Amino acid sequence: MNTKKFQKTADLFQMLSHPVRLQMMDELRKREACVCHLQAVTGRPQAYISQQLRILRDADLVVDEKDGQNVFYHLRSEAVRMLLQELLGDADVPSHPKDCTCPFCSS
Ligand SMILES: [Zn+2]
Repeated sequence: MNTKKFQKTADLFQMLSHPVRLQMMDELRKREACVCHLQAVTGRPQAYISQQLRILRDADLVVDEKDGQNVFYHLRSEAVRMLLQELLGDADVPSHPKDCTCPFCSS
């Protein structure tokens, strides 16, 4: 029996078992986003968002990409997207918090 496989899946669900991380990943499946956008969407401080993003990145769920001054995060794979689809249903349109200063919301 491949117990490693079950451990890996259990780790994944533990990772997902977190309301704010799910909210962040839900936003990321709509469109790539920077820390400030996820801050505006969740209403959490930057340090908190950065910490959660680091955890998600270490778990291979999201990837960061530098674009000029900004770092944008997106889902790592189609498999992650499909898992979220299964768990959360269809993705909504990207959020537009009115106090967000990210390139997408302010343009
Ligand atoms: Zn924004």
